[in-house]
Amino acid sequence: MKPTWCLASNNKHKIEELQAILGDRVKLNSMSDLGLTEDIPETGESLEENAHIKAEYVFKKLGLPTLADDSGLEIKALGGRPGVYSARYAGEHGNHEANMAKVLTELGTNTEREASFKTVLALHLSADEKYSFEGEIKGEILKEKRGTGGFGYDPLFVPRGYNETFAEMKDDLKNSISHRKNAVKKLVTFLELLKK
Ligand code: IMP
Repeated sequence: MKPTWCLASNNKHKIEELQAILGDRVKLNSMSDLGLTEDIPETGESLEENAHIKAEYVFKKLGLPTLADDSGLEIKALGGRPGVYSARYAGEHGNHEANMAKVLTELGTNTEREASFKTVLALHLSADEKYSFEGEIKGEILKEKRGTGGFGYDPLFVPRGYNETFAEMKDDLKNSISHRKNAVKKLVTFLELLKK
């Protein structure tokens, strides 16, 4: 029988996307599927710390293998900001327009526009088995927004080797090259190795 894991999130889209990639290796349940309705405070100073805080919280409550993720945008000329503060860079959580405006103001006319999206997946299989998988995609920040798809900083980000922003790309293409995909690929490789 396939193992049941909790994904420390209630984002339906995230769960469906991850479940599709993981296939029949595991069955993912959201926090609310398992009776947890609270927001877990993300008090870490890095994506990795936050991912582990979320995985640890749920693992302690449920005693089930738990997967958690944290993602963000790191801009070289801003010393890696917004990084762990990506969702609330301009103050209000999830105000993508304000976050993008703040990034554009801070970068101004700076010609150094290198950036990368990162995801860290934390997997707690038991109290002694805790793992991290990091995925990245490098690219650059435009001087103005382009495109209407995606979310977050997508209209400002052109991945290296492409001409379109993430917000102009088809979802399938973005999802096949994204930071999240690259982290999940590492997780899948790890799970395949565990089976051997
Ligand atoms: P989360 O950890 O997946 O909730 O991501 C935190 C924040 O990082 C989001 O609110 C966005 O601001 C930013 N972010 C993460 N992934 C992406 C992406 O694929 N495109 C654009 N912004 C993203």
